[in-house]
Amino acid sequence: MSETRHNWTKEEILDIYNKPFMELLYEAASVHRLHHDPNTVQVSTLLSIKTGGCPEDCGYCPQAARYHTDIEGNDLMSVQQVKAQALRAKASGSSRVCMGAAWRNVKDGEEFDQVLEMVRTINKLDMEVCCTLGMLTENQAQRLAEAGLYAYNHNLDSSEEYYKEVISTRGFEDRLQTIDNVRKTNVTVCSGGIIGMGEKIEDRAGMLVALSTLNPQPESVPINALVAVEGTPLEDQQPISIWEMVRMVATTRIVMPETQVRLSAGRTQMTREGQAMCFFAGANSIFAGDKLLTTPNPDVNEDMEMFKQLGLNPQKPFIKKMQPQSVEAKDSQYQALGEKPKWSRPEHKIERNEAAKEKAKVVK
Ligand code: SF4
Repeated sequence: MSETRHNWTKEEILDIYNKPFMELLYEAASVHRLHHDPNTVQVSTLLSIKTGGCPEDCGYCPQAARYHTDIEGNDLMSVQQVKAQALRAKASGSSRVCMGAAWRNVKDGEEFDQVLEMVRTINKLDMEVCCTLGMLTENQAQRLAEAGLYAYNHNLDSSEEYYKEVISTRGFEDRLQTIDNVRKTNVTVCSGGIIGMGEKIEDRAGMLVALSTLNPQPESVPINALVAVEGTPLEDQQPISIWEMVRMVATTRIVMPETQVRLSAGRTQMTREGQAMCFFAGANSIFAGDKLLTTPNPDVNEDMEMFKQLGLNPQKPFIKKMQPQSVEAKDSQYQALGEKPKWSRPEHKIERNEAAKEKAKVVK
C-alpha cells in the first residue's frame, strides 16, 4: 500500500498535476483503489444555518455583507428546523450533515449554545455532524467535540500567496491556527479550497502542499470550482474546464491517499460524464441538496440516478471513525470563556474587493 507522505514539495506536486492526462488518471485511480472502495461515495448535506451578513471580504462569497448580491439573509435556524432538515437528508441517503454559519468567528453565548444543541441533536440521529462556523478557539473546539461533532470544516481556499489576493480581513495563518485548535480534539478536519479564482497552477499546487504537509492530513478535502456570483469581486471569472477539475482531484488523491476528496461547489457546471471522471480519479464524496449554502447544486434525485447509473453506493456513517459520544450541556467539562481572540488582520487592501464594495454602495 502506498504510504502517506507529509513532505510533498510544490515541484513534485506540479509534476503530478502536469502528467499526461491518461497517466495521471491511471495513477490516481490506482492509489484510490488501494485505500478506498471505488464504488462507495460519501454523501453530505450542507445546510446554511445562518445566511448572509458576514463581515469578512472573501472575494468569492455572496454572503459578505459588503458586496451587493441577491442573497436573502436569515438569522440562526432553530434546532427543530435543523432536525427536520437532517431527517430529510438522512432519508435521501446522506450520512453527514454539515452546518454552515456566515460568521467571522464563533462567539461564546446563546447562538453558540444553540449550535451545540444542533450538534447533539444530529449526533443522536446517528449521522456524522460537521460544522463550518469560521474561526474557532481551542476551548470552543473542545465544546463542539463534547457535543458530538464529527468534523470541522475550515478551508485554506488557495495557496498562502494567492490567499492574499482574495481575502484581506484575515490571514492564512489564522486558518492554520483554527485547524490546529480542532486537531487538539478528537474532531476530524475537513479543509480544501477553490479553483478558478484566477490563481496559477502553482497556487493550486501550493494549496496542496499546505494541506498534504499537515500531520495528520485532513480527513476530508473539498475541491470547489468557483461559482462566480454577480456582485462579488470575482463575478467576471470564467468557469474552469472539467479537465482542470479532474487534474486537481487526481493530484489531491495521489498526495493525500487516505482522505475523502469531495466534489463540492461547481457540480452543476459538470456533466455526468465529467463527474464520473472525477470519481474515477479519486473523488469519493459529494455535497447533496439543491443548494450549497447559497449557490445551486444538482437535485438529490438526479444524484441518486447518477449513482445508480455508475453503480455507486452511498457511504454509511462512522465507517472511518467511531461515532463520538455526545455530552449533555449540563454535564459539560468545558465552560464558555467569552474569549476575545486576537486574529491577525493583514493591513493590505485588495483592489477588486474595494471596487466591489464601492459598486455595492452605488447600487444600494
Ligand atoms: S466565505 Fe465565510 S467568512 Fe468569507 S465572507 Fe463568506 S461567509 Fe464570511
